[in-house]
Amino acid sequence: MVGAGLVGVATAWLLLNRGHGVCLIDPVGAGEQPADAGSSAALGLLMAQVYRRSSGRGWRLRQRSLELWQDWSHQLAERGSPLPLRPGLLQLASDPQELELQQRLVQERSAKGFPLRLLSPEELALLRPQLPHAALGGLLSPLDGQLDPIVSRQLLLQDALSRGLELVSDRAEAIAARQGADRWQVQLASGKRLEAPWLLVCAGLASAALLEPLGHQRPLAPVLGQALELQLPAGCDAQPWPGSVVWQGINLVPRPGGRLWLGATLEPELAQGFEGGAPGDPAALEALAQLNGHAPDWLRAAKPLRHWQGLRARPVGRPAPLLEQLEPGLLLLSGHYRNGVLLAPASAEWAADQIAAGP
Ligand SMILES: Cc1cc2nc3c(=O)[nH]c(=O)nc-3n(C[C@H](O)[C@H](O)[C@H](O)COP(=O)(O)OP(=O)(O)OC[C@H]3O[C@@H](n4cnc5c(N)ncnc54)[C@H](O)[C@@H]3O)c2cc1C
Repeated sequence: MVGAGLVGVATAWLLLNRGHGVCLIDPVGAGEQPADAGSSAALGLLMAQVYRRSSGRGWRLRQRSLELWQDWSHQLAERGSPLPLRPGLLQLASDPQELELQQRLVQERSAKGFPLRLLSPEELALLRPQLPHAALGGLLSPLDGQLDPIVSRQLLLQDALSRGLELVSDRAEAIAARQGADRWQVQLASGKRLEAPWLLVCAGLASAALLEPLGHQRPLAPVLGQALELQLPAGCDAQPWPGSVVWQGINLVPRPGGRLWLGATLEPELAQGFEGGAPGDPAALEALAQLNGHAPDWLRAAKPLRHWQGLRARPVGRPAPLLEQLEPGLLLLSGHYRNGVLLAPASAEWAADQIAAGP
């Protein structure tokens, strides 16, 4: 396998659970990913039951992934390392159209047994710290939520290592099929060459360049996202909220110690040609910090502790994510764009099922 972001690590973990031997290649080895890698920059929102569509591949992957995260969390809890999974998601409506969409969604999903519920402005006004006054209502989804992506990746990785994962701290320079041998070869930067009957490419944005020489064009556009960690004023703690809050696409994630994550901007234009160092747009960051002009006093008084940015991999001309068997034994798991944290387990299961079915 190439790439140890959350998608690669989740897949390696599941394959080991299913009894496969797994070799995972990534220059970061057992350490942390670079700050601009997708998984280390993510806020970890899990939006499955609030997804607007009710059928199709996206819907199925999201529902399955949410189930799997809960299941995996139980499995890891039994081994003493529960995942940092916090249930609850509250999407605020900032205009009448959004409110109407939420009302329809609640009706439709309630009929199917999903526990979605609408909160009135009066109910929202009771929450502390206060939410933006302009909220017309809120869609509360108790089963969606948030997962700390960095900690979860490390827990899965440590568990996988304890189950025999072979981790190679190196960069894959090229991949190729070994003619007549039904095997895939990976050429490493160190000069070594590895071989296996299955090769899984989970290298995020870098997947496109690895596949291109084989004639597989899967362009991925980088979409930059900026985020902030804030220290809230003394005595202010967002953890009593019924979960993470979404306002006009901005996520507010309560953190321990009176902290809050705020993110993420969506900056496709600036990210074009990005080579790891280009800064995000200061105006977009300011709009984020101010909740598009609706920041309550407590948020305006919060102290920024950390500012970071990362890149999402958006497939060009194809729907996200890219889960494909490109050739017998060659699997692509990439292009998860805005939902790679949510979709990592369902992607892993897809890969495990492909391998079980044979090339
Ligand atoms: C700011 C921001 C906020 C986000 N918020 C959310 C959210 O709330 N919810 C959600 O579900 N998703 C969110 N996402 C999206 C999510 O982070 C990504 O979809 C997901 O992390 C992608 O994971 P990945 O494993 O595919 O890629 P990555 O995490 O980018 O990992 C790719 C790995 O491949 C390795 N690699 C690259 N090239 C090579 C090579 N040649 N050889 C070996 N290894 C290689 C890299 O070192 C890296 O470790 C967010 C993303 C950003 C940027």
